[in-house]
Amino acid sequence: VVYISLLFLFCVIVYILLVVLVLVPLNKNLMAIQKGTKMQLNGAFEVQYIASAYNALCDKNAVTASVLKHKAEHDPLTGLINRNAFDQIKTALMGEQEPISYLIIDIDLFKKINDNYGHPIGDEVLKKVSRLLSEQFRQTDYVARIGGDEFAVIMTKFGDNADEIIKRKIGNLNLALQAKDENLPPVTLSVGVSYSEKGYIPVLVEKADRALYSVKRNGRCNCAFYEEIKK
Ligand code: GH3
Ligand code: MG
Repeated sequence: VVYISLLFLFCVIVYILLVVLVLVPLNKNLMAIQKGTKMQLNGAFEVQYIASAYNALCDKNAVTASVLKHKAEHDPLTGLINRNAFDQIKTALMGEQEPISYLIIDIDLFKKINDNYGHPIGDEVLKKVSRLLSEQFRQTDYVARIGGDEFAVIMTKFGDNADEIIKRKIGNLNLALQAKDENLPPVTLSVGVSYSEKGYIPVLVEKADRALYSVKRNGRCNCAFYEEIKK
């Protein structure tokens, strides 16, 4: 009877240890997998080891996913939002109730920069233009490179004097880009602007394009507003 009692006690202790050190932690880990969260480091050494290896893999995957997402949404040369990501932003802004201003910005006679100074210098000019654009607009605006030497900006949350603000920003940009620079040739920008009363609408692009075209026809290095060129 003593032997049987001791054996029974032993079995109960082994069972309790098995439950506390292995089954409960494994069950928690299973729930963590289902929820997509990290595992807690509980239980036997082996279970903890597996949990910490799993957590490290999760961290690595999260970093890879964020690097891939950043790559998919940004232009590698300038670091600005690329055309794809910009299109997604436009779609997201379609339901907005706030006014939007849409700018298309094109570098003037950029082919000549490449022809006269070479493609690498052309690339540096694109980077400089991108940096100045990012500095000139606010965090709440969207600045994107949508083509070779073409950029677009969506401005949200502005007052009644948007025309003045935009003219001043483009004037600042053109001054900065023509200022003496030891390393890069001067360039200028032409800009077409259109407005929507409520959120993004596709016709904004065509209107801004037409305004840009009028600047290109009238001597470049300036900005034009669709509402004005229409008159
Ligand atoms: P316009 O004033 O009418 O705009 O004249 P433009 O010479 O700037 O004409 P356009 O805008 O059509 O030319 C864009 C040029 O940009 C053509 C192409 O060689 C150059 N380009 C496009 N992508 C890149 C790039 O990634 N790097 C460099 N260096 N040049 C590029
Ligand atoms: Mg151009």
